Amino acid sequence: MKYNVDENGYYGKFGGAFIPEMLYPNVEELRQNYLSIIESPQFQNEFHQLLRDYVGRPTPLYLAQRLSEAYRAKIYLKREDLCHTGAHKVNNTIGQIILAQKLGKKKIIAETGAGQHGVATATVCALMGMPCVVYMGEIDMKRQKPNVERMRILGADVVAATSGSRTLKDATNEAMRAWISDPVGTHYIIGSVVGPHPYPDMVARFQSVISEEIKEQLSEVEGRTSPNYVMACVGGGSNAAGAFYHFLDDQDTQLVAVEAAGKGVTSGESAATTALGKDGILHGSRTLLMQTKDGQVVEPYSISAGLDYPGIGPLHAHLFDSGRGTFFSVTDEEAMMAGIELSRQEGIIPAIETAHAFAALKQMSLKPADIVVINLSGRGDKDLDTYIKWGNY
Ligand SMILES: *Cc1c(COP(=O)(O)O)cnc(C)c1O
Repeated sequence: MKYNVDENGYYGKFGGAFIPEMLYPNVEELRQNYLSIIESPQFQNEFHQLLRDYVGRPTPLYLAQRLSEAYRAKIYLKREDLCHTGAHKVNNTIGQIILAQKLGKKKIIAETGAGQHGVATATVCALMGMPCVVYMGEIDMKRQKPNVERMRILGADVVAATSGSRTLKDATNEAMRAWISDPVGTHYIIGSVVGPHPYPDMVARFQSVISEEIKEQLSEVEGRTSPNYVMACVGGGSNAAGAFYHFLDDQDTQLVAVEAAGKGVTSGESAATTALGKDGILHGSRTLLMQTKDGQVVEPYSISAGLDYPGIGPLHAHLFDSGRGTFFSVTDEEAMMAGIELSRQEGIIPAIETAHAFAALKQMSLKPADIVVINLSGRGDKDLDTYIKWGNY
């Protein structure tokens, strides 16, 4: 079984590029050029230099002693929370902006829901001195005011999407429209392993630095490159894809993906895509998504803005479908409790997205000799209001 993308942009039956005809030249330009650019030594040098000097890589692989004692296994944390801007997202935006420059693009556009990807994009645009327009639903702009202001401080132009439900889906439509209107000059930075081919593969490659480092670091401290488990939360799936990437064909390592069950998988307020989803087309690729009987996308819900997405990337749909990945889902309450538990046990307040991965430890049957790596995708500073409202600490 092949788990990575094939030459046609598919992961098993998932993936592909289902796009309006007007967008075809843009996506095709990317598809034809992305591999030769990314694999060139010049690109790799620039990318890794910025990851080191600007992002702060390699991020540590930290043996969490007290957490390990509590769950009776050896648990390492991959500290993506220590990346510049506080999460893994910047690994991807750095890669894509270098790629955009090599393609001769003069302007960057992006869409954002909660604003995290918008901030990561605005950051690298400031770094490179490129103009940046971020499309964001009008409702999301109200809900995520601090991120709107962060983007503006960084020099980005934040444009409100005022149609439809005025959230992520509408922001995506606006960004697509802007891309179609200036295909020659603009690069569109997508923030997760979603969208039409080659985006899922491109983003996974940029994030794969996470598992590349895990292998090196684990080999230094444990004398082996394969942990028994790698765990990560899944919204679109980019931090999980990065943490899984170099283990996809390594059957010694079990891949554990954790989705948001919101108020409960069957509550009607959830984002547990593999538990509830069916095949369909979302954001330009065939994947699993939450939809009604007649194919309308169901509005997702999670307490964590980054997991509040009605689908998953095609790689993860394939990992689920083939059984290569193990999928758990975790409620708001379980995630919040796990976030507070990690804060007390290790002195690390995680992003609430990340807290979902930790909550899934309770659903696993671990043995004392097991080595577990949890991808700590982001820090909890941005979620302080949610923690405070939650209380119970
Ligand atoms: C955005 C985000 C996620 C979810 O996105 P993925 O593409 O699934 O990784 C998870 N954790 C943090 C900290 C995020 O900011």
